[in-house]
Amino acid sequence: MCTVVLTFKQYGNSQTLSYPTLPEAATLLSQYIQQKSLSGNEKEASEFFANICRSKGLFVEPLNSAGNQYNFSASLCPLSDQKPNIIFLNHIDVVSEGNINNWQYYPFSGHISDSIVWGRGAIDLKGVAIMQLLAIERAKKWFPDNHFPYNITLLCVGSEESNNQGIKDVIESSFTKLNPVVVYGEGGTGISQISIANPEQSFFCISIAEKKAIGLKLSLNINTSGHGSVPPSVYANKVMIQALHRLLKSKNKLHFDEITVDFFKTVGGYEKGIRKFVLRHPRIFKPVIQKALKKDPILLSIITNTISITNINNTPLPVNQIAPEVEVLLDCRLLPNTDPEKFIDNLRKQLHSNDILITVLKETPTAPVTEKGEYYTHLKKAIETVFTGSVVLPVLIPAHSDNNFLRKMGVPVYGLTPALLSNTQLRSIHNSNEHITFQQLQKGIEVYENLLKNITTHIPESH
Ligand SMILES: [Zn+2]
Repeated sequence: MCTVVLTFKQYGNSQTLSYPTLPEAATLLSQYIQQKSLSGNEKEASEFFANICRSKGLFVEPLNSAGNQYNFSASLCPLSDQKPNIIFLNHIDVVSEGNINNWQYYPFSGHISDSIVWGRGAIDLKGVAIMQLLAIERAKKWFPDNHFPYNITLLCVGSEESNNQGIKDVIESSFTKLNPVVVYGEGGTGISQISIANPEQSFFCISIAEKKAIGLKLSLNINTSGHGSVPPSVYANKVMIQALHRLLKSKNKLHFDEITVDFFKTVGGYEKGIRKFVLRHPRIFKPVIQKALKKDPILLSIITNTISITNINNTPLPVNQIAPEVEVLLDCRLLPNTDPEKFIDNLRKQLHSNDILITVLKETPTAPVTEKGEYYTHLKKAIETVFTGSVVLPVLIPAHSDNNFLRKMGVPVYGLTPALLSNTQLRSIHNSNEHITFQQLQKGIEVYENLLKNITTHIPESH
């Protein structure tokens, strides 16, 4: 705790608030939020945060930073020591604030009231970065003179929310230098209200796998008479809409892989009666579960490959002129065991039109699932120490982050925001009124601190 005076801008006006005692985590987070860092424009915020890391006595090294980006590592020991490295990964950038009128406080004010820090990035992911930093600072004191068996590195990268350029650059330029043995990044979080019989039971979901994202463009060009007064039997928009209709109608196959089956079984253990029995035997009761799952987009997204039609575009023309070209963008998310080529072949069959050209615009790496292993157990125990009575379980995350880029390099990556978030907080991520409580920040630091304790008191012999 420390005494501070905060100055921040609220809707353009400078405002000063005094707090007699404010936890350091809240002060730092508030200041970091005030450093606006929209994806691709993170340099100032990044330098600001790097300076805070320096002030904590960490070795800060810029890692292949270009333009408005600035990736850096902040470590207990210099990277050149090449010690096995425990990496806490976070991203500096944030998504746009959206409609500012939907915010209770100016999104880049870092406003503090009622023991809550408000603003864009409070949860995703500046709050996590602060928790990680303060835990590393504590760990630093356990090992005077840097006689530390591991290095511990806070790895801060840019552009996670847009094109993952930060982590790509860091891997290309500095992967060997970083020498990671494990990475703890973002992904799952602590939630309750999953179990109907035990709504208060908290579950901490550690992500060990992510879906692969593929962005596709469908293009169709049909030269027709062009005048809307006499519609031709075949024209671009009509053919495309019919093809999309076939795509939307086709059945979505359910895939129950090990992670998902374990998830249902664990949650089922907290249910009662028939629901308990069904969830504990998901493969047998697939048809029963299927019905319920179809109503739940989140659960459905972890057991199916999904396709969202995100854009349908024509060149703007007058209302009476038929557009000869149409382009459609599809956001496809694939489960870890899906072959992307087979998926696209199948999609082509479902569209059932040889004239539609399919182009891959972008794709995230195909990466292995991280095994649970010892570093998972250390995190699980740390969560159980701080959040007594909570259930920790591995999950597959439908969204993608920087994690799979590192999994592809063969590093175990565990994704977790170590906070028990309310439904309101979950909805605030990438939305308005993002906020985190002082207590959540405090507990998050404790989880990371316990994690580091667990690892450093169980040093494998090879190290
Ligand atoms: Zn994030």
